[in-house]
Amino acid sequence: MKFSIKLVLSTMIVLALALGFSGFYFVNYVFETSLEREVGQALDESSILSFAFETAALNVPLKYSVLPDSVVEEIASKLEMGGQSGGRLLRISDEEKNILYTSSGFTADEGLLVQTDQHTKSYQVIRAQNNFYVHTCVSINALNRILYLETMKDVTGVFTERALGFSLYRKVTVVMLLTGMVIMLFIASFLTKPIRLLTRATQNMAAGDYAYRARQISRDELGQLTGDFNRMANALEENICKLEEEIEAREEFMGAFAHELKTPLTAIIGYADMLRSHKLDEEKSIMSANYIYTEGKRLEAMSFRLLDIIVAKQEEAQMQEAPVGELFVYLREMFAEKKEPEIRFSHEEAVVRMEANLIKTVLVNLIDNACKASEADGVVEVTGQRVDGGYRIAVRDYGIGIPEAEQSKIVKAFYMVDKSRARSKNGAGLGLALCAEILKIHHSELQIESKEGEGSCFSFLLP
Ligand code: ADP
Repeated sequence: MKFSIKLVLSTMIVLALALGFSGFYFVNYVFETSLEREVGQALDESSILSFAFETAALNVPLKYSVLPDSVVEEIASKLEMGGQSGGRLLRISDEEKNILYTSSGFTADEGLLVQTDQHTKSYQVIRAQNNFYVHTCVSINALNRILYLETMKDVTGVFTERALGFSLYRKVTVVMLLTGMVIMLFIASFLTKPIRLLTRATQNMAAGDYAYRARQISRDELGQLTGDFNRMANALEENICKLEEEIEAREEFMGAFAHELKTPLTAIIGYADMLRSHKLDEEKSIMSANYIYTEGKRLEAMSFRLLDIIVAKQEEAQMQEAPVGELFVYLREMFAEKKEPEIRFSHEEAVVRMEANLIKTVLVNLIDNACKASEADGVVEVTGQRVDGGYRIAVRDYGIGIPEAEQSKIVKAFYMVDKSRARSKNGAGLGLALCAEILKIHHSELQIESKEGEGSCFSFLLP
C-alpha cells in the first residue's frame, strides 16, 4: 500500500475516533442535562400537587375526623384535571399502599410505590408503550391519613432529541470524514512529493544516469534527506568518474607500454635474426650486437623505471625532517661532471619534512629533462626558497619548451612530446610519471610553466 494512502487512512481512523467519541459525549451530555431538568420539574410538580392535595384536604367538612376515600378520589380527580394538555397522570394510594385512585393511562407498576415510605421522595425513569416517563412518588399528610401520590411526566421528547442528535452527528461525521479524506489526500500527496522525487532519482541513477539529482522542494527532514542524498550522489558520481578515468588511464598505459616494448623488441629480434641467418662481416656483426645491446639496455632502464613507479605508488613514505642543504650538496656532487649545459644551484636554508631519497629522484629526473631540452651552451637553474605554505623547489631551463597543449599530458606514463628526440636521448616517457607519484606521497604536485622555444620551469611545493 502506498505511504500516502497509509497516511490518509491513519488520519481517517484518528479523525473517526475523535469525532465519534466527542459526538457521543456531547449528545449524551445534552441529553442528561435535559433529563435532569425534566426530573427536577417532575419532582417539583409532585411536591406542588401534594401541597395542593393537603390544602384541599383542609376544606373537608368538620364532621370527618379522618379523610374518607370518597374525598380522596374527589380531590384527586380535580388535581388530575389541572394538567396542561389532556390532564395529569396520577395515582393515589393509602397508608397500606392500596390504590385509591388511578388516572386513565397511568401504566407504571407499583415497584416505586413499594420502595417509598412517608419520609422519602422517589422517582424513576420508565418506558411505557414506546414513551418515556418520569415516575415520581411522594407521601401526603392529609387529615390524619398518610397517602401516597404518584405522578407520570412524559419525557419522550428528551429521548427523541437524543436519537435525533445521534443521527445528526452520524451524518455530520460521515460528511466530515469524506471531506477530510479528500483534503488529506491532497495534503498527503503534497507531503510525500519529496519521497516520490527521491524514488525517481534513485531509479534513474540505478538505470545509469549518475548525473540525475532529486529536486529539493522543502526544508524539513525530507528536504534534508534529499540534500544528503544529492551529496551522496555527487560523491558517488565523482568516485565513478575517478574510477572511469583510472580505467581509461590504465588502458592508455597498457597500450603505450605494449607500444614501447614493441619498438626495442622489434629491433632486437631483427638484428638477432640477421646475426643468426646471415654470415655478416665483423663490422656489421659488431653494429648488430651494439643495437641489440642498446635496445636491451633501454628495455632494462624502462623496466627499472616502471618498477620505481609501482614501488612509489605503494610506498608508505618514511617522512623525516631533513635540511634542504643536504639535498643541494648531493645534487651538486651528482652533476659536478656535467659542464654542458651549465647547472646553477641556489637555495635558502630550511628544514623540510620529506623522504629525501625520493625527492632526490624527482630532482635528478627534472634536471636530466632540463639538460636534454637545453642547448649545449644553455643554463639550467635549480632553486629552493621558502614561500607561503612551504618550501618550493624549481628547475628552470631556457631550452625548447613544451607546447601548451602537451603540458598536461607529459606526466602520463610513456608520453613523449617528440618521440624520436626523446628516444634518441634514451627517454621512455616515464620520468615525469615517476615524479608525479613521488610528489603525490608528499601531498604535492608538479607545476609546469613553459613556453615553446623559450624554456620551461618545473616546480613543486613541499608543505
Ligand atoms: P623521458 O624519459 O622521455 O624524459 P619524462 O616523463 O621525463 O620522460 O618526460 C616526458 C616528456 O616530456 C619528454 O619526452 C619531453 O618531451 C617532455 N619534457 C620533459 N621535461 C621537459 C623540459 N624541461 N623541456 C621540454 N620538454 C620536456
